[in-house]
Amino acid sequence: MNTTLSIIKPDAVKRNLIGEINTMIEKNKMKIVAQKMILLSINDAQRFYDVHKDRAFFDDLCKYMISGPIVVQVLKGKDIVSNYRKLMGATNPSNADENTIRSKYGLSVEENSVHGSDSKENAKIEIQFFFSSKEIFGD
Ligand code: ADP
Ligand code: MG
Repeated sequence: MNTTLSIIKPDAVKRNLIGEINTMIEKNKMKIVAQKMILLSINDAQRFYDVHKDRAFFDDLCKYMISGPIVVQVLKGKDIVSNYRKLMGATNPSNADENTIRSKYGLSVEENSVHGSDSKENAKIEIQFFFSSKEIFGD
């Protein structure tokens, strides 16, 4: 079993969807082994999304990610990186498969409700960005 980083983004936190999204995660046999609500600084958002710094949407993305609190989580489960990406659905909610988090709750390609790491290597880096090992409770 391995772990991935999940973020419930500001649009979803604002619309009271933390519980609904956590229910989808838990019903799909993924375990939340760490979770906290935080407000990113602009510097945090820019560092977290550094891979996208040359994209046209980068400034807007960073502004959106600091527009309200987010919930950061560590999820554990079988093939968790790819299984959570499947549960999230495509980046653009209008292209996301039915019954995915983004198809149900995403508002736009930017305000798409959740983040999930895209590889095992990035999961490790992203988990360390937000959590110390003492805050993670997977056995
Ligand atoms: P994903 O979150 O599916 O891995 P990306 O890593 O490509 O997608 O993009 C990171 C985030 O940047 C997306 O989740 C979304 O919030 C935002 N984003 C991506 N593409 C666009 C776009 N074309 N316009 C506005 N925002 C975008
Ligand atoms: Mg990505």
